[in-house]
Amino acid sequence: MIKDTYFTVGPSQLYPTVKDHIYTALEEDIPSISHRGDRFAHIYESTIASLKKLMNIPESFKIYFMGSATEGMERIIQNTIGVSSTHFVNGAFSSKFYQTAVDYGKKPEKIEVPFGSGFDKSLLKVKKGTECICITQCETSTGTAFPIEDVYSLKEQNPAALTAIDIVSSAPYVHLDFKYIDLAFFSVQKGFGLPAGLGVLLVSPAAFAKAESLSQKGMLLGSYHSFLSFEKYNLKRQTPETPNSLDIYLLGKICEDMLARGISLIRKETDEKAALIYNFFDHHKIYKPFVSDKKFRAATTITIDTPGRSAQIVSSLQKKGFIIGRGYGAFKDDKIRIANFPSHSVSDVQSLLRSFPK
Ligand SMILES: *Cc1c(COP(=O)(O)O)cnc(C)c1O
Repeated sequence: MIKDTYFTVGPSQLYPTVKDHIYTALEEDIPSISHRGDRFAHIYESTIASLKKLMNIPESFKIYFMGSATEGMERIIQNTIGVSSTHFVNGAFSSKFYQTAVDYGKKPEKIEVPFGSGFDKSLLKVKKGTECICITQCETSTGTAFPIEDVYSLKEQNPAALTAIDIVSSAPYVHLDFKYIDLAFFSVQKGFGLPAGLGVLLVSPAAFAKAESLSQKGMLLGSYHSFLSFEKYNLKRQTPETPNSLDIYLLGKICEDMLARGISLIRKETDEKAALIYNFFDHHKIYKPFVSDKKFRAATTITIDTPGRSAQIVSSLQKKGFIIGRGYGAFKDDKIRIANFPSHSVSDVQSLLRSFPK
């Protein structure tokens, strides 16, 4: 059987070495070991060390394992916001982050532009006193990127505010200077090419201190996954609950593999593949990239306008062994989405574009 190649934005194509690591994990009984024992503590420690190395995350940052990335939004709202956060909203995921703050009874501000647009410099202003600036670095629902320099400039203008960024579909491609970042989160079924069921939250010392101070004021930060509960177990190299040990193990292995391959090469190839895809559609007679302004085009999740033709394109490509996604939500029939993750090779992308229906 010829295997399909998944260009879906998540879950997506598994990283090429995942299969072998799963076999090894089964041989070594990883799914059966106790999450309160030494072997698990060793895996936990090793995965965190590899991830920190791969993404250049400072030693002082804490890394917590959750069930998903969606959980990350909720934990950030619960643990770091007393009254107000500011959200840059231009798609379904940034909107969900904002809505989570509303659901928790906070008073969030929203800076909103239409789906598919980015935020011009003139919009990069937040109200004084906002506690946390929440940004979706790669808005997967529309293929829009929030340039990382703009995150840095927001932090420079608002040093007292925390910065929280959703890097679910851009990690580990996105290259961050954590001097300007307090909270970041992702899940593993996108850029890391792993089976779903694990979220990762990065917490700066300032963000952790904020949670402590809110707790001292008597605020409830959640239960088993409050930052304080996470940290109590983190000190023992454990998680509060029985975790997805298999995925934690696999994440460590994939980080090592990516380090061996070289993260700068992975980033360079991602840029090359993105250029191939955008160039193809910039010159296409009918289909065009949804995000017209090049500076806001995401490299890792690419949305193309295909008015009325999504279903046809998806099924034609499927017959040739390529699985791509339709537009998000209301865009289902009029757009397609193509993932460009480290698990997709340059030649995979070339074959996909060659097979694209005329
Ligand atoms: C996929 C995605 C999420 C949600 O991730 P889950 O693992 O499904 O919780 C959040 N934000 C962005 C930008 C995403 O692409």
